[in-house]
Amino acid sequence: MADCELCGVGRPTLCPVKPDVPRFRTAYPTGMWLGICEECTNACHDANSIRSRANGSKCNLCGRKGEQLYAVETRVPDFSEPYYKDKVAEICESCLEAAENAYNKRQAELASHTGHH
Ligand SMILES: [Zn+2]
Ligand SMILES: [Zn+2]
Repeated sequence: MADCELCGVGRPTLCPVKPDVPRFRTAYPTGMWLGICEECTNACHDANSIRSRANGSKCNLCGRKGEQLYAVETRVPDFSEPYYKDKVAEICESCLEAAENAYNKRQAELASHTGHH
């Protein structure tokens, strides 16, 4: 079980995303992997097509500051009706693109699974 870096949900498997974060290059020369849940890759994919600018100052995913951020509407499971909460995450462009890659990879995976029938 691992927690989604974006919405905090615990999932058995997460989609790996690797944003290009200059300030982490010394600590993580090969890039830094972050795990986000499938719902969040979908949310990021939507956000990537809408590109609604957010006013925050810090990326909710990689923690980078001073970048233009984009709003990602995620749903966080909740214990009371309607069993989720809307949450708007703000992430930078490189995270958005990294998540988009993860989304495309996931869609390709899903397509190849159904394609074997
Ligand atoms: Zn998530
Ligand atoms: Zn970021």
